[in-house]
Amino acid sequence: MAQLNRCLHCGSDTVFKNEMQGAKTGVLAMCGNPACGVRTPLVVESVAYSAMDRVAGVWNTSTGEEWPTWVQPLGGHDAYSYGSRVRHKSKNWVSHVDANVWEPGVSGWTLQEGLA
Ligand SMILES: [Zn+2]
Repeated sequence: MAQLNRCLHCGSDTVFKNEMQGAKTGVLAMCGNPACGVRTPLVVESVAYSAMDRVAGVWNTSTGEEWPTWVQPLGGHDAYSYGSRVRHKSKNWVSHVDANVWEPGVSGWTLQEGLA
C-alpha cells in the first residue's frame, strides 16, 4: 500500500480518508491531527489507476508548502515548533527547538544543505 510521509506542518501521522463525491467514492490524504487539518484534494477511485497511489504522490511531493518562507513570530502563540521547516535567505532550515522565535542563522535552526 502507498506510504504517506508525516505531516509537513505539524509532524503528525497522515491517514487516508474515503469520501463520497456524488455517487463515486474517492480517497484523500489528510493530517491525523484535527487541529492541523492539512489535506489533499479528493481523487476519485478508478479501475484505471490507484487513487491511493495518486493521493500519496500528491501528499509526498507537495513541495510548494514544504518550505514556507520564514516570518518573524510575534510571540509564543505563533512561534515555530520543533521540526518546523522554513525557507529563509535562500536556504532551508529546520527548527530544533520548540517555541522557536529566533531568526534562522541566529539560533534554534539547523541549516539543511542540498535540499534547495
Ligand atoms: Zn498536520
